[in-house]
Amino acid sequence: MNLFQLFKNIAPYVRPYKGLVALALLLTSVGALTAQVNAYVLQYTINSIASLVEQHKQLAEGLHIVAFISIVLLSKEILNIFISFGQKFFGEKIRIMISKDLAQKIIEKILSYRMAFFTADESGSGKLQTRIDQGVSSLTRTVQSFFIDIFPLFTSATVALLGMFNANVYVGLAGLCIVPVYFIISQKQAKKLKGWRRNIRSFRENKSGGVINILESISVIKSFNREDIEAKKQSDLQTALTDTQMRTRSTNFKFDGLKTFTEQFGVVIIIILTAYLVLIGQMQIGAIMLHIMLFNNVTAPIRQLHRIYDDVNDALIYAEGFFDIMHSDHEKEQSGDYRPERITGKFELRNVDFAYPNGTQALFDVSMTIAPNTITALVGLSGAGKSTVINLLDKFYASACGEILLDGVPLCDYDTRFLRENIGLVLQKNHIFSGTIAENIFYGNPNASYEEMVEAARQAYIHEQIIRLPEGYESSALLLSGGQQQRIAIARMFLKKPPIIFLDEPTASLDAIATEQIKNSLDAIKKDRTVIIISHSISQFIDSEMIYVLKNGRVMEHGSHEEVYRQEGVYKEIFDAAARSLNVEKISGTIEKK
Ligand code: ADP
Repeated sequence: MNLFQLFKNIAPYVRPYKGLVALALLLTSVGALTAQVNAYVLQYTINSIASLVEQHKQLAEGLHIVAFISIVLLSKEILNIFISFGQKFFGEKIRIMISKDLAQKIIEKILSYRMAFFTADESGSGKLQTRIDQGVSSLTRTVQSFFIDIFPLFTSATVALLGMFNANVYVGLAGLCIVPVYFIISQKQAKKLKGWRRNIRSFRENKSGGVINILESISVIKSFNREDIEAKKQSDLQTALTDTQMRTRSTNFKFDGLKTFTEQFGVVIIIILTAYLVLIGQMQIGAIMLHIMLFNNVTAPIRQLHRIYDDVNDALIYAEGFFDIMHSDHEKEQSGDYRPERITGKFELRNVDFAYPNGTQALFDVSMTIAPNTITALVGLSGAGKSTVINLLDKFYASACGEILLDGVPLCDYDTRFLRENIGLVLQKNHIFSGTIAENIFYGNPNASYEEMVEAARQAYIHEQIIRLPEGYESSALLLSGGQQQRIAIARMFLKKPPIIFLDEPTASLDAIATEQIKNSLDAIKKDRTVIIISHSISQFIDSEMIYVLKNGRVMEHGSHEEVYRQEGVYKEIFDAAARSLNVEKISGTIEKK
């Protein structure tokens, strides 16, 4: 990304604040003028006093000059208080507002993207967060530094240079000649330092990340006696960090020295030139002060140039990652506009082939019919494609939706939001948001009444346990056990009341007691609904009305439990293995003995 593209991308976010921008620019222009006042006042002071001295006048006769100077300088400073406050305040306000807008806009964008965006490698949650944070902060820093540093300093420099030309063309030229030299040195400095600051930052992040890693895996480190290795890793990082820090400092000091020399060289030239002009009677002595101070204003922004250059470089790098996320419009969720009165829940998949965006072909020629108001189980080993079927039916991935019908209408034609209103999804791990239990259940239907919410909890067999908690429904949901959290997710489903429910290994991460308790909740929610269940647990798929057996993305067998078992294929293999692993004989023996 180049500077022009950066401006083009950021312009729409600055536009809403044009009033503020205009105000900041106006103050900057006034500030650029007041910044030169000292130079002129000093010139006037020296000239006036010198002439008094020449005429052997006493203090009393100079008082009016002193009074005049004091009034001008103090008035200017009072004006400056307002100008500098306004500049900083408006610059900061623009930064804060743009940062707010960028952060909000990107969240809204991300929420609107299709599932494929989230499962792509480059969108790991940590990576996305870093790209967004760095993007927002470096972009807004650049905008702010434009209003607070770059623009005011360069305007003041231009006005000062004009002042020098106005005083004398040769003095102006001398000032102008030094500028490119200074500029070249600053640019070399920036080029040398390019990326070092970023390196330092990333070393620091790694270091603090390192401590977190140590804390998280301390039991493994200790049990393997690997304290030395961990300490060495940290020490290597520290060494790299200090090396880079020292190199940055020494480069900076060298270039700063060179710049100070150039600046002083310029000052010397200007003094010599002005002294000559004074001596040949073209100017009064006060001009020396005027020229030096104006020259100082000319060089001030260039002194900061390497820092500004580095900031802008950072912004260019981070802005690219940021706007990539912001503009991946092709990832937007696709939606039709079909919204029938009622959904019965009859799904038909016709010879569906499906590959994930990364190219993994997950389904081959899959045909299925999911009858409404029945329970259909998808059975197969891990990686067989079961979750993929559910992903497609929920329109998380759109490419194959033309071959999938719901109640006879292609899934593509459905309004996606409407479709998802009618589908309930219970996963192996349901996300519980930080907040109260009540808030978490209300997520299923934010418009439900409190009584309806409690009724949903009752249907999910969790109400009794909730009211025993000290704060009841107001307790934090994150404190619940895994099994309880799963039932909160099921209660959410009761509140949502969707006609279609997908259960993707809903009890896989739970212990035996929790699984048994949840079975009641699940049996209750399955009633009169179209349910697809994925499970490795015999008890959950054995009484489904229809079983589809998948292997390597293909449907191998289908039918009722007895039918598919009789086919002596994959299902029998899986079922027998599951039964053997349960050690049914010993279990039944134990239970009988009791
Ligand atoms: P199952 O639910 O039967 O365990 P999945 O449907 O999750 O199997 O996976 C089927 C195949 O698709 C596997 O090879 C898996 O690696 C791949 N897969 C699953 N999700 C993704 C994804 N988001 N991106 C790419 N490949 C995926």
